[in-house]
Amino acid sequence: MEYPNSTFLLKNCRIINPFGSPTVIPNGYIHIQKDTIIATGSGSLPDNGTIIDLGGRTVLPGMINAHTHLYSALALGMPPPNKTPRNFTEILERIWWPLDRALDRESNRASFAVGLLDHLKHGVTTVIDHHSSPNDTRGILTELAQLANQLGMTLSAAFEITDRNGPERFQAGLEENLRFYQETHNTSTVRPLVGLHASFTLSDPSLEAIAEAVKRLPDGGIHIHVSEDQADEKDARDRGYRSVVDRLHHFGLLNRNSLVIHGVHLNREDLPILKTTGAMLVHNPTSNANNRVGLTPGKIVESLHSGLGTDGMQANLLQEAREGNLIRSSHLACGAPNIDLLRALFVNNPRIATHLFGKKIGRLEPGYQADLAIYDYHPRTAITEENWPAHLLYGFDLPSDVMACGVFRIRDREWVDIPAETWLESGRIQSQRLWRFATKDTENTE
Ligand SMILES: [Zn+2]
Repeated sequence: MEYPNSTFLLKNCRIINPFGSPTVIPNGYIHIQKDTIIATGSGSLPDNGTIIDLGGRTVLPGMINAHTHLYSALALGMPPPNKTPRNFTEILERIWWPLDRALDRESNRASFAVGLLDHLKHGVTTVIDHHSSPNDTRGILTELAQLANQLGMTLSAAFEITDRNGPERFQAGLEENLRFYQETHNTSTVRPLVGLHASFTLSDPSLEAIAEAVKRLPDGGIHIHVSEDQADEKDARDRGYRSVVDRLHHFGLLNRNSLVIHGVHLNREDLPILKTTGAMLVHNPTSNANNRVGLTPGKIVESLHSGLGTDGMQANLLQEAREGNLIRSSHLACGAPNIDLLRALFVNNPRIATHLFGKKIGRLEPGYQADLAIYDYHPRTAITEENWPAHLLYGFDLPSDVMACGVFRIRDREWVDIPAETWLESGRIQSQRLWRFATKDTENTE
């Protein structure tokens, strides 16, 4: 939806800027210029720009998914393997690796499109993606960036480098990261990172080669699964390192632009390394529960100010916070405090994104990118400065309107200038092709 004036004022809305001061503004306005919030407040309105009446709707910041895999978007409903996986490594070998090997350009495009749509539909306007498609490598991250751009979304992309498909595909993965880095590192809506699958699928010479390449990149950083399962830690110890973090640090791969995903089995010696290097941890509670790999200790999540991701499990970050909260509660004694996943979502994710993208993202405050999730929310109890977390965790459903970079992409529950139905139909067609290829691959592996 185009507005004649690039300055506009959203009025008659309840603003919830989590952990802000104040957090709740009952009858507020948001003043936006192009893609940036220039003021929020209440009372008399600034006399400037086009006025849009939100009719009492509730505005949250557009959310950030700090770790996901859009390539798994077409896995919803995929037939299970004949042999049920018995551990984490078998889950990868029988489900995810056959799926990523089966992806080609058509199914990749369909995955990206429906995966991004799903995020936008849930008010998530920034996606930090970790991509894998070893048989469709060159140029694939550009395809993803073009789709995100079409939707006005902010994207970090990386291609998972691994040794598990042989040296040629290792090299192709590294080259795709470097090519994409050169192409996008000066753009404002795309943040390239160098993707590594995980320590246990990369040899020492491979880590050395990646580290050499990363060192030459301006603001280079990696995006890697770390200590998701005990198998990753055992592999690092078998190779002569104290831990996965120790191994990555040995090669100089951890720095303040690096994303370290999961950290379920981090040990006490890893913490000072992560703190000194400034590498950023991202917790993915529903994925960890689904894979039965354990529970990241609350002290680690809190002391590293961990972000919140979904690891491809879902695109709904409020639901990830809610379900993560419940998963963790089920392991706690009555009365023991839980970690604060809303803080991870609304404070730590914005800090991570703001650092990576070099611009303010994820808060409803002046100077931040105009990303908004707007809800037609009529609660059965009052919303106050004290109780808003309960409403966010247990009250909110889908947004009625979503703005990304100052442009409405969903207005009154309708997509704006986005061919969503065509993309969804393509997802339904491509998913069937993909499942056939993946199933055949799994049968060969078994
Ligand atoms: Zn992941």
